[in-house]
Amino acid sequence: MPPLIPSAKPLLGEEEKRAVLEVLESGKLAQGRRVQEFEKAFADYIGVKQAIATANGTAALHAALLAHDIGPGDEVITTPFSFIATANAIRMVGAIPVFVDIGEKTFNLNPALIEPAITPKTKAILPVHLFGLPAEMDAIMALAQKHHLIVIEDASQAHGAEFFGKAEFNGKKVGSFGTGCFSFYPTKNMTTGEGGMITTNDEELAKKIRKIINHGSERKYYHDLLGYNYRLTDLAAAIGIEQLKKLPAFNKKRRENAVLLSEHLSSLPGLVVPALSSGHVFHQYTIRVTTEEKEEGGKRTEGQGMEKRATERKKMREELIAQCHQQGLEVAVHYPLAIHQQNAYAFSGSCRFPLPVAEKMAQEVLSLPIHPALSPEELLCIVNIIKKIHG
Ligand SMILES: *Cc1c(COP(=O)(O)O)cnc(C)c1O
Repeated sequence: MPPLIPSAKPLLGEEEKRAVLEVLESGKLAQGRRVQEFEKAFADYIGVKQAIATANGTAALHAALLAHDIGPGDEVITTPFSFIATANAIRMVGAIPVFVDIGEKTFNLNPALIEPAITPKTKAILPVHLFGLPAEMDAIMALAQKHHLIVIEDASQAHGAEFFGKAEFNGKKVGSFGTGCFSFYPTKNMTTGEGGMITTNDEELAKKIRKIINHGSERKYYHDLLGYNYRLTDLAAAIGIEQLKKLPAFNKKRRENAVLLSEHLSSLPGLVVPALSSGHVFHQYTIRVTTEEKEEGGKRTEGQGMEKRATERKKMREELIAQCHQQGLEVAVHYPLAIHQQNAYAFSGSCRFPLPVAEKMAQEVLSLPIHPALSPEELLCIVNIIKKIHG
C-alpha cells in the first residue's frame, strides 16, 4: 500500500495536460518553440539574460563546468552534504571536488572554511542551495572575486529562492549570482518530468553551452567542439512553462507549511527545526533528531565516546522513521551519508579537511513532507504523529 502522506508529490493540472497534448498534436516532440519559450520565461523569472534548457540537472552541472573550461588538474571547492550529482559532475569533467564543511544551522557551505581550501589549482566554488535555503552568497562572491574564481551554483533545490544578506544582493534570486544550474526532477519545487536549466548573464558562455548540449554544433552537421545530447524536449518544456507560472504559489505554500510545522514542533525535546530564513523555498523541511538535550539534562554519564553517541542518534532516528511509516507518514533522510563517505568516493584527494558537521548531520537529519499538495488535515496529521512519538 502506498503511504497515506507521501514525502513528495508533483502537482500537475489540466494546464500541463493541455500543453503536452498540444505538443503531441503538433508532431514536433523534440526541439521546437516550447523549449525557447520556456528558456525565455525562466531567464526572466530568475533575472538573468540567458537560460539554456537541458535534459536534467546533472547535465546542467556537467555542461556548465565544461563551458567554464574546468577539467583535469583543476580543483572545485564544494559541499560534502548534497545529492551526489553535485560532486559527480565535477569528477565527470576530470576535476577534483574539494570538500569543505557545512554550517549546522544552514546545511550549506561554511564560508569561513573556503579560503583555507583554496590552492593554485582551485578554479571554482560550487555552492549548493540545499533544501531551498540560499547559500551565503555575499561571502562566497567576495571570496570568488578576491581569488578570481568562477562560481557555479547548484540551485537544483531552490527555484525562486531569494538571498537576503548584504544590501546589494537583497532579494536577488539564486542562479543569478554565478552560473546557475537547476533540476526539474518530479520531487523538486517545479518539474518537467526530467529536465534542467542553466542560467547566466554571459552571452558568450550561453552560446558555448548551447553548443555543448547539442553535440558541439551550432549549424547542423558542423561540430566545433566535443559535445553531448543534453537537450530538453518540447514535451518537457510544455510542462515546464505551466509549472513555472505556478511556482510562486507552490513556494508560498511550502513556506506556509514550514511555518505551521515549526510552530508545533519547535518545542519538542530532541528535535531541531529548520530556521525560517527569508527567501527560503523549503524544497525539504528537514529537522534534526539529536541527543544533545539529554546531555544538557545531565542524565548522561561521563566517558561516552563519539562512536556511542553516533549510534544513539542513528537509533533514535531509525525508531522515529519506523513509527512514521507504520502510520502512513512517509519521511526521508536527505542524506544518510555525506558524499565523501560514499563508496564511490573512497579515493583520496577530495577529503583534505575534517568534515565533522556534514557527518553529524547525515546521522541526524530527517525530512518531513512539506510539498504544496498537502491538505491542512494532512499537515496536522504530520504534527500529531511526530508529537505522539516524540512528545
Ligand atoms: C536533483 C539534484 C541534482 C540533479 O538533478 P537531476 O535532474 O536529477 O539530474 C543535482 N544537485 C542537487 C542538489 C539535486 O538536488
